[in-house]
Formats: sequence, C-alpha cells, structure tokens
Amino acid sequence: MTDSADLPVRVRPEIAALPSYKQGKQAGGDAFKLSSNENPFDSLPGVVEAVQGAAALNRYPDASAARLRERLAARYDVTPDDVHIGAGSVSILHQLALAVGGPGTEMIYAWRSFEAYPGLAAVSGTTAVEIPLGEGARHDLAAIAAAVTDRTRMIIVCSPNNPTGPIVTQEEFDDLLARVPADVLVVLDEAYAEFVTDAAAVDGRRVLAQRGLGNVVVLRTFSKAYGLAGLRVGYAIGHRRILDAARATAIPLAVTAQAEQAALASLDAEPELLDRVRAISARRDRLVAGLREAGWDVPDAQGNFVWLATRAETLDAAAAFEEAGLIVRPFAGDGIRISVGEHESVDKVLRVAASVVRTLP
Ligand code: PMP
Repeated sequence: MTDSADLPVRVRPEIAALPSYKQGKQAGGDAFKLSSNENPFDSLPGVVEAVQGAAALNRYPDASAARLRERLAARYDVTPDDVHIGAGSVSILHQLALAVGGPGTEMIYAWRSFEAYPGLAAVSGTTAVEIPLGEGARHDLAAIAAAVTDRTRMIIVCSPNNPTGPIVTQEEFDDLLARVPADVLVVLDEAYAEFVTDAAAVDGRRVLAQRGLGNVVVLRTFSKAYGLAGLRVGYAIGHRRILDAARATAIPLAVTAQAEQAALASLDAEPELLDRVRAISARRDRLVAGLREAGWDVPDAQGNFVWLATRAETLDAAAAFEEAGLIVRPFAGDGIRISVGEHESVDKVLRVAASVVRTLP
C-alpha cells in the first residue's frame, strides 16, 4: 500500500481532489434496478442482429461515424458536418467543455442537475457557477441569465432536468437566448427529450430550425429512449465550427462500429421504440399520480424518472426501497431519483413509497 504522500508521480491537485463518476448501484437477485434511468425493455432482435453484423472486431471503426451523421443530418435538416457522434453524450459534454472552457473562464448550469456537470468543469479547469433550482425543482433561467459575466463561455440547460424531472419551456429557453451574448455556447442537454409529453417544453430540433446554427448545441443520446446505454452512443447537433472544436478534443475512435450500427438500426426501428417510450411515459405519469396521492410532493416528471425530496431522510428511505428489492438513486441530503422501469416495478414503488412517507417526519 502506498500512501499518496509517497507517490512519486505528481497528479494535478485539482484532479486528485476530484471524485470519480458515481454510477447507480447494480441490482442483485430479482431486485429492480431503478438507479440509472435505463430503458427496461430488452433490445429489439433487429438491433442485436445489426450489432452482430457490424464490422469485424479486428478492424477499427469509421472514426467520423459518417453513416450515422448523414442519417441524423437529414433528420435535423443540417449538413453532416453539423452533427457529431460521441461515445455517449457525456463524452461530447466533456469535449465541449475542453473546447470552450479552461482556466479563467466560467460555465453555468442549474444545480441540482446531472452529476457529470461538476466534473466537466473541474477536468477542463473551468469555474463552475451553479444556480440553485427554483420553484418546483425547475431551472431558474432568470438567475442563470443574470449570472453571465464576461468570463462565461458555456451554459448547460438540462431539459427535462436529471434528477428532478421538470422541463424548461420553449418560451423560457428563447428568453434565455435573447439575454445571453452570442459568443456564449448554450448546450441544451436533451438526454430525455423523447419521454416529454408537455407541449410547452423546449425542443432542440425546433430551436435549431427556427434560429439556424449559432451558439446553441443540442445534445441527445441513444442511451435512454433507444435503449442503447450499454453501447455508448450519443450525438450533438450544432454549428460545424463548434463541433469541429469538440472533434479536435475527442479521443479518436471512441465510437465503435457496433454502436454506430446499433444506432442506425434503432432509427430504422423507431416506431416500435417510440411505442415503448410512450409506455414508459404512461407508467411515469401513473407513478407520479400514485406518489402524489400517497402524500409525496413530486415535481413535474417529464423524463423516465421521478424525484422524491427525502432531504435528511434520503439514505434511510433509499435503504427502505432497497430492502424491498428496489434499487434507487439517493443523493444524500437531497432526494431520491427512481427510474421508471418494468411494469411490475411501478406498483412496487408505489407500495414502498406509501410506507416510507408515513415514517418520514
Ligand atoms: N445528460 C443527462 C442529463 C443525463 O442524465 C445523461 C445520462 N445519465 C447523459 C447526458 C449522458 O448519457 P450518455 O452518455 O449515456 O449518452
């Protein structure tokens, strides 16, 4: 065992102080894993076949994922250069932070939001400016706009917000863009966009169609609605010069041929996959209604997860869920995020939540 004081290699102190990404707990036995916002459905046979039929394992993939970029470009009515594919959308977030951030600059995002955001700031040497969520665990866009300084290089807007659930409205987002200088990159992280049923929600595709490509980059993923979390594939749509900068910071060849092929096959199978998404959104609404009936103050949920503000009781409440065979995601001192999983898991969550709420002060 070597104490870090004896370690001859000099790790950057800000990196040594940085916790590594904490993943949702794995489920053992027949517990439901509701800790990582995964899609509970099995992969479609056509998608599995496409993965098996992808390039030979001894060959490198196409570094530019040209076929998938072309396919997505047609869908967003942009050119393939305005599309960038990453090994999960989280890798693109890192690339963008490296591309526009750095020492002496700031990035703004709402908090609490996606766990990876503080890490992007730290790794890129950018100062994180965290703006507390407002009423109903929603983004406070006025406060975000007011926090912009001449050091701000990037704003991340997460809609629906992970882990609390609410969307940002189109009106709020347009208003933010009107108030933010054009040289600040605004990343609209729409990892859960397909689950949204609220017509007032911001829609990245519409933003780009109406404004053209400027300082907004829209981020989406195949991990959630398309059920490819294990393969790691996400994408960004935006101005090619911004995405060129992201590409320049990227680890080359991180997107495998299997991931690209699976994404293409998922787009082919989209009607069936979106039926599943609708089923998940309906389960989510049932879960929210049931939890509210049981006395929980649940924020509006527009992703594939719900939020319980368990505050000081969070770890005890998470333990109660786990004991009942439900692996949920606790954020100590704040709340619990429960993914919308298998059909049978919904009633079970409701049963356990009803007993937990009675024991909370
Ligand atoms: N953005 C948000 C808001 C997320 O919740 C996640 C995954 N939890 C991601 C991005 C990254 O997803 P992936 O890297 O799997 O595409």
